[in-house]
Amino acid sequence: MNMRAIATISQSALLHNLSVVKKYAPQAKVVTMVKANAYGHHLNLVTPLLENADILAVSEIQEAQALRQITNKPILLLSGVHSREELQQALDLNCHCVVHHSSQITLINNITQALNIWLKIDTGMHRLGLSSEEYQQCLSDFNTNPLIHIECILSHFACADECNHPMNQTQFEAFNTITDNKDNRSMANSAAILSLPESLFDVVRPGIMLYGASPFNDNHFTLKPAMQLSAPIVSIKTLQAGDCVGYGASWSANQQTTIAIIAIGYGDGYPRHATNTTPVLINDALHLLAGRVSMDMIAVDIGDAKVAIGDKAILWGDEKLRVETVAHHSGTIAYELLTGVSARVGFVSGK
Ligand SMILES: *Cc1c(COP(=O)(O)O)cnc(C)c1O
Repeated sequence: MNMRAIATISQSALLHNLSVVKKYAPQAKVVTMVKANAYGHHLNLVTPLLENADILAVSEIQEAQALRQITNKPILLLSGVHSREELQQALDLNCHCVVHHSSQITLINNITQALNIWLKIDTGMHRLGLSSEEYQQCLSDFNTNPLIHIECILSHFACADECNHPMNQTQFEAFNTITDNKDNRSMANSAAILSLPESLFDVVRPGIMLYGASPFNDNHFTLKPAMQLSAPIVSIKTLQAGDCVGYGASWSANQQTTIAIIAIGYGDGYPRHATNTTPVLINDALHLLAGRVSMDMIAVDIGDAKVAIGDKAILWGDEKLRVETVAHHSGTIAYELLTGVSARVGFVSGK
């Protein structure tokens, strides 16, 4: 009997989710976001995404190194480079580099090998990106350098997961004005792909939707969960009214009930802040968490359901229990839960 937590990565769900991207953005090239070890799904288990990408994107150079071991596809380095060493590494790995800060311009302009760059404009999120003036400066500097090829112009939405947020229109218009009908532009992340069709431009950058989680609370757009996190029941107890469970004795039974103890906790990446309204799926039925999440265990109030030691509990990644729901009950977002599954969990490839 396998008594540890397992994350099963569904290959067919990954392919399906990619088809949802194609449905919403049929004309666009796709930058497949595989930063943070493919949003926690493990690079070596997301082969359908790697194989079908036009280009793959990671945040920093170590991630690009790991990715280059398993694919020959172009890699986009979202943070760009910050030193000559990093620039050389990026060139050796055949990466495209984002230029998002004026401090990167001179570094890039002194290259001795050809390089594809992506210019990132700050249209209001104020995190990464060139101002309109810096962008113009960059264009004039780089256009006279035969080694530099400007592959794409991009910007990032701050509020795309709130369709009606006024920032979306402001950023879209700023981008349109600054980039002035140029070819090869990119703004849309998952939320924008699904809800802001005018922002698709030529290149889209889906992340979370590829992994089957929706950026919106009220609509999952037929996306299929790619990661199923499960763990076995390791103990079953009958409690009487008034008996409590777990650290702090914060939960107690209102009436006689059964508690199933599941072998997963915050040491595996299950959120410690999950409240007692958080569902857990056992033998196809939803039950609620009872008491605090421990490092290695959680308790679930299963009432009078019949279960056995070794039965599988699904923590998330089922049509009946999406990771978005667990995130909602834990005061966080699906991104954090998916990227936070720890090294103690066994990762396997599934249908
Ligand atoms: C991570 C990232 C994305 C993808 O965002 P999702 O919300 O996961 O779709 C797109 N663009 C950039 C620049 C990113 O860093």
